[in-house]
Amino acid sequence: MNITGKALAQINDTLGKLPPERGGILVASPKGVIVEFCLDQKNKGSRDEYTPDHEGLTRALRLRTERGLELAGFAHSHPGVCCPKLSLQDRAYAREILENNPHLASIWMVVVDDNGVHPWLVSASGRTQKGDVRVVVGRPRR
Ligand SMILES: [Zn+2]
Repeated sequence: MNITGKALAQINDTLGKLPPERGGILVASPKGVIVEFCLDQKNKGSRDEYTPDHEGLTRALRLRTERGLELAGFAHSHPGVCCPKLSLQDRAYAREILENNPHLASIWMVVVDDNGVHPWLVSASGRTQKGDVRVVVGRPRR
């Protein structure tokens, strides 16, 4: 997962500090570098699972796709250090995003817990694989 230092800091400063479960969308440049994390401001999470504010996130995404950016995935927090993997609900949500965005071959589903940031690449075929965090230095080219 290629990401700018700024976007990674946005994740760490929000999901990494706020109580779980919170979430938001990852937005990438046309080159596929994640350049921004937009926190779901409305949903403050619950004791169970994070439920996204679809309307707010769709609005936030629309503003960015108008500037040539693209949805890259979704990041959310899990409590503690127990579960850096995607839950069944997370996988179902990833499938839903992919079904609603048929032009995307895959998306990043990022779990943040007390140990840090855990990226998972979920493809439209249903395959899920573990990714690495690669911080892109400098300004990504559009
Ligand atoms: Zn989850």
